[in-house]
Amino acid sequence: MSLSQIISRIHATEKTANRPLGATQLIAVSKVQPNARVHDVLEQGHSLFGENKVQEAQGKWPDFKAEFPNVHVHLIGPLQSNKVKPAIALFDAIHTVDRPKLATKLATEIQAQGKSPELFIQVNTGAEPQKAGILPNDADLFIKDCLALDLPITGLMVIPPVNEEPSLHFALLKKIADRNGLKNLSMGMSADFERAIALGATHIRVGSAIFGDRISHK
Ligand SMILES: *Cc1c(COP(=O)(O)O)cnc(C)c1O
Repeated sequence: MSLSQIISRIHATEKTANRPLGATQLIAVSKVQPNARVHDVLEQGHSLFGENKVQEAQGKWPDFKAEFPNVHVHLIGPLQSNKVKPAIALFDAIHTVDRPKLATKLATEIQAQGKSPELFIQVNTGAEPQKAGILPNDADLFIKDCLALDLPITGLMVIPPVNEEPSLHFALLKKIADRNGLKNLSMGMSADFERAIALGATHIRVGSAIFGDRISHK
């Protein structure tokens, strides 16, 4: 599917869901995609991208940003504590703040660099043992602790369990955000972004629907 087709679907859903036109930001997830494909989407004027690994992003975005200065790149994958420094230097937002140790490290490094990406807290709404994210029951306290560290937390992020109806998880994420006064919701991917928009997503993360399958184009 082309970028413009995805954008049309976003606008159509905003309309039927009674959300303001443009309420949803499309993050084009460019991980593992060949640079030529990413360049093509950049040339079409798209300016918001997502990557899930610090090192992979370091390998391509400094050059792309030199050519397309208005581009923003968000980290949507797990962040190890030892990568916090380059992550703050490179990314415009980090969606995966998920544990106290990482929060403390981010606070220290934001002070040191005098700049900060916008931050989202990842919530493990399905309480899956293998998945990153703070557990729903611990979320309120963790959000308060992050705000007490002066971290610029603006929203929450979720990756729902693969075999469950994602809408239940989107609704839970919105509920936690609302009761904590957070306005941004990073939720919805290629297969379910319309349901996420209907439930209040402000940022959808769409990869394969824009760029094609990640495996067959390596
Ligand atoms: C890869 C990835 C996406 C995009 O997935 P698609 O199904 O290709 O749209 C979204 N969010 C995260 C966290 C990802 O790692």
